[in-house]
Amino acid sequence: MKNIIVIICISVLCMFIYILLLYTQTIDALLLSKGDFAYVWVAFLLFVISYIVVIWVIIKNKQKNDREIEARVTARTNELNLLNENLRLELEEQKLAQAAFHQSEEQYRLTLDNMLEGCQIISHDWRYLYVNKAVAKHGRKSKNEILGRTMSEVFPGIEHSNVYAIIERCMKEKTNEHMLNEFEYENGSKAWFELSIQTVPEGVFILSYEITERKMIEAALRESEERYRFLFEHNPAPMLIYASQSLHILAVNEAFLKSYGYSEDEILAMFLFDLYPPDEKQPISDLAHNLQGHAYAGEWHHIKKDGSIINIIAISHDLVYKEQKARIAVITDITARIKAEEEIQQLNSTLEDRVAERTDQLVAINKELESFSYSISHDLRAPLRAIFGFSQILARRHRASLNEEGQQYMDFIVEASKRMEQLINDLLNYSRLGRKSLDLKPIALASIMKNIQVDFKQKIEEIDGNLLIDNDLPEILGDETLLRQIFTNLVENAITYRRTDVPLVIHISNEHVTDGYLLRIADNGIGISHEYWEKIFNIFQRLHNEEQYPGTGIGLATVRKAVGLQNGTVWVESVVGQGSTFFINFPEKNKN
Ligand code: ADP
Repeated sequence: MKNIIVIICISVLCMFIYILLLYTQTIDALLLSKGDFAYVWVAFLLFVISYIVVIWVIIKNKQKNDREIEARVTARTNELNLLNENLRLELEEQKLAQAAFHQSEEQYRLTLDNMLEGCQIISHDWRYLYVNKAVAKHGRKSKNEILGRTMSEVFPGIEHSNVYAIIERCMKEKTNEHMLNEFEYENGSKAWFELSIQTVPEGVFILSYEITERKMIEAALRESEERYRFLFEHNPAPMLIYASQSLHILAVNEAFLKSYGYSEDEILAMFLFDLYPPDEKQPISDLAHNLQGHAYAGEWHHIKKDGSIINIIAISHDLVYKEQKARIAVITDITARIKAEEEIQQLNSTLEDRVAERTDQLVAINKELESFSYSISHDLRAPLRAIFGFSQILARRHRASLNEEGQQYMDFIVEASKRMEQLINDLLNYSRLGRKSLDLKPIALASIMKNIQVDFKQKIEEIDGNLLIDNDLPEILGDETLLRQIFTNLVENAITYRRTDVPLVIHISNEHVTDGYLLRIADNGIGISHEYWEKIFNIFQRLHNEEQYPGTGIGLATVRKAVGLQNGTVWVESVVGQGSTFFINFPEKNKN
């Protein structure tokens, strides 16, 4: 179109130039010799020129246009390439983003699935759209049993519960809720959950966390706290709680108020040291600041409201009271005990005097009795000897003139006077002990035992027994006569109270113990029942009658007295039917 306009314009211009040349007769002038066709040639030439010009212009134009188009095409192509590249990059980015999105979605799903908290999405028509492992565990169902089903299908009856109503309200009103829910399982057991209900486009998202254990701990704590509070408030002993730092009294129990006479307001305005007399205020404050753990704070004085001072023992230990470090103290009023102790002490001191006085009296009476029994036994000896002597003469000379009954009586008299003589001798022997001064000197027990062995040789052989005496017997500070009496008595008893079914074995041994020597005289005789272990050392105490085992009941009393006079002790241990062991302990100071 542009080219056509140019051609028309150039044609018009040529026409105009031709007409101008005609008008100005320039052509005539120029072409006088050329004839009439000259105008045609000029016109033709002009046309040719003009067309050449036009074609040249057109070509130039076209070339220019082509260049422009080419430039624009190149620019556009570049632009498109750029766009293409951007698009490709964008696409790649999108792909990467999508992959990352899928990966992170998978990660989130995995994280959600393995979360301790239960995560669930419930649709508007109450179906479970998503549940994680924790929800399945909390519900005691598998995920398959839950997913796709409605809440009431999975947990029948839940539609009547409070939690159901709350979820329903959240769905309707598009609100969020946080609540604690006690869930009852089909078997009747219960569990506690903390629930966060949030509305989401699909319905509701519920985040649940099981707090049964926490609830149980809380309940146990509450219970123990209540028990503790009860114990504190109803404890019959006065109790108080004070702040460890300020020593401010924080609480007291009923017993405290009753015993001290303060009102609760008065005592709660006081400090621990206010309860103490002036000289104890500083020491108790210093101590209370340093006390830790369970501590016995010793004996102190407290002032009651009426001003009276009491003796107390306080036992305290740490505790946290209303979120501050404190100590609880149990107070025992020991005023009465101390008073009683003082009285006892006073009584004791007079008692000691009285006991000493009484002991003196008893010693005197004993001495008196001993000399009395000594003189009786001594005085009895002469008439008894006369009875014994004459009854023997009578029996010897006049036995034939007596009938059988008379002869029997005669035997009884002789026998009885023999026993009487033995009894009087034993009694005299017992009374004599301690009357004459002791002749204490180092005595080798081995030499005493040699005599014993000689004394009893025949008797032991007769009964087919065995008297074993160890070689390591000590040397002690003692009285030879007394020691002989002791061992003679014990060996004699072992022979008397032997068993008939086994050969008698007497074993005398020694052990060096911390407080001296422990001599053992053991036999395998009839034994002594435990209840008599102590009694048999009393005078005249016998466990058998004369027919069974002859004796006077003075032997062991003599042994104990003789051992005692040499600062020793004697006792027995025995098993009935198996034998007895007499122990004699001579203290170390008796050692030579
Ligand atoms: P007596 O032997 O004269 O009766 P004792 O004072 O010597 O008096 O003994 C008191 C009692 O202790 C005896 O009657 C006897 O029952 C018991 N007795 C003493 N020694 C032994 C012993 N070795 N085995 C068993 N019983 C014994």
